[in-house]
Amino acid sequence: MKPRSRTIGSVNTPAHIILSAVILGRGRTQKYWPAILGGAVLPDLPMFGFYLYERLVAGHPERLIWSQRYFDPDWQRFFDLFNSLPLIAFGLAFAFYRNWGPCAAFFLSMTLHVAADLPLHHDDAHGHFYPLSNWRFESPISYWDPKHHGLIVGGLELLGTVVGSFVLIRRGNPWRRVGIVTLALYGLFAAFALAYWARL
Ligand SMILES: [Zn+2]
Repeated sequence: MKPRSRTIGSVNTPAHIILSAVILGRGRTQKYWPAILGGAVLPDLPMFGFYLYERLVAGHPERLIWSQRYFDPDWQRFFDLFNSLPLIAFGLAFAFYRNWGPCAAFFLSMTLHVAADLPLHHDDAHGHFYPLSNWRFESPISYWDPKHHGLIVGGLELLGTVVGSFVLIRRGNPWRRVGIVTLALYGLFAAFALAYWARL
């Protein structure tokens, strides 16, 4: 099997949604479900914008996008803006100061996303301390790169996401729906992957 390279599939947003939903989807924050889902997704959205622009507008091939364009300083700054701990902390402080529940749930969910990304990215790490510092923590483990334990971490992440989805299904709606949709998407993806391998 040839080593997996970075693709848009490496952006594992469903795992972030499940993590935020399991932790914040109960107790005082549970009623703010749109804010929780929004905060879990937002840090990855610029990556989808980047990919769509590079592929459809600029017409760059897949390989060039992930080996060069991804590392372009302007794109990196754009990603960092949505993955910045100082900016998220500022948002959280504002939410607590105004005692604004949905806003706090949103930034708490973003915090969980970034806290999960920080130890699991190697050379594709985000500048989580932008704009205070451009320092990037290049973790020895990666959630996808086979050269940095990506197969094990990716497997554990998949397992955690499936278990988390079942935890949500046992809760009432809307969390039940989030769990069901995630499992259905994973099932569909597995079916496509199997059909693809069967044709090889
Ligand atoms: Zn992320």
